[in-house]
Amino acid sequence: MKRTDVMEIIKLCRNIDETARDVYAKLSNLADDKELSAFWAKMSQEEAEHISFWKRTELFEVFSDMPNLFEKPKEVITDLTNALSRSRSLLSQCEENCSIQNSFTLAYRMEFYLLHPAFEVLFHLLGPLAGGTNPEDEYESHISQFIDMFNKHCHVTPELELLSETLHRLWKENKQLALQSTHDDLTEVLNRRGFFTLSIQFAYLAQRTKSTLAIMMIDLDHFKSINDNYGHSVGDLVLKKTASIIKKELRTSDIVGRYGGEEFIVLLSQTKNGATVNIAEKIRKAIENNPPEGIPLKVSIGFAERVMGQQVREEYMELIKRADKALYVAKNAGRNKTVEYTSEKE
Ligand code: GH3
Ligand code: MG
Ligand code: MG
Repeated sequence: MKRTDVMEIIKLCRNIDETARDVYAKLSNLADDKELSAFWAKMSQEEAEHISFWKRTELFEVFSDMPNLFEKPKEVITDLTNALSRSRSLLSQCEENCSIQNSFTLAYRMEFYLLHPAFEVLFHLLGPLAGGTNPEDEYESHISQFIDMFNKHCHVTPELELLSETLHRLWKENKQLALQSTHDDLTEVLNRRGFFTLSIQFAYLAQRTKSTLAIMMIDLDHFKSINDNYGHSVGDLVLKKTASIIKKELRTSDIVGRYGGEEFIVLLSQTKNGATVNIAEKIRKAIENNPPEGIPLKVSIGFAERVMGQQVREEYMELIKRADKALYVAKNAGRNKTVEYTSEKE
């Protein structure tokens, strides 16, 4: 299979994590202090868990379909290749000088290489796909236990203190950047790009597991009049609340995106035949029964289901079109209802 840029980036991330695992294992072997040795072993173990995350994502073989994940993939590859060779050189430096101070400085450099934004973007997008624990969720504790241990064992110079702060800030900024490129600021669900990037992977997965995939389009009814009557900022709050009601009614493995202004798209994976209508109705009623901002609101829902054949991308796009057509039918039939796509409704 053709090796795409994204696959190359994933491989490099995995190689860097493997190097980190080895660096920490070496620091653990070289440390005289028992507590420190156990601590480095724990850091090494955490890196090993990250590696298992990359292995799980590599299983999917579908990354040829993620063209827009990185705007400049070649630059990311060059950066990561450099980070990998620098991190590998840390391995030999462990032996040259294994003083406590030097060990921590090495570990700082290792963590710095691990903070390339590509890691965060991939954790963010592939986490739901890979299942299991997501390294993103654990990073904060990984880095803070490192800083605590450092404070305990080292004479803290202003330079090293600055390094701690830099790591923390870099991590936060990366997280924010990854979030902004894939999520909608207002409603905090995926934006269109994030939704497609992630959901197409589920479409491939559905093909392999021969499970039913469903797409649902949810459009707020007469939303314009809410803006007109209460103002745009209240309209914004209504959208935000509606998104959170939708999310609450779904499983964490389902994906929600903001498709357009006041229209949401939902992908339901591994859906039992016939279950989608019930989920759609649950969402529709939940919104009707919990007026966001106290403003009565109704929604129309169109959905379509199918088992994926060989042309995953085309069939997936067709599925979205069908859900959209069903939504149109729901609107024309008076709104505030759920309609399933059928071919007569073309
Ligand atoms: P229908 O039942 O046919 O869907 O009617 P509608 O009024 O909901 O649909 P229409 O497409 O006529 O209007 C959509 C409105 O949504 C118009 C637009 O100003 C508003 N809108 C889109 N994005 C936002 C947003 O981010 N915030 C707010 N407050 N309003 C938005
Ligand atoms: Mg509308
Ligand atoms: Mg609309």
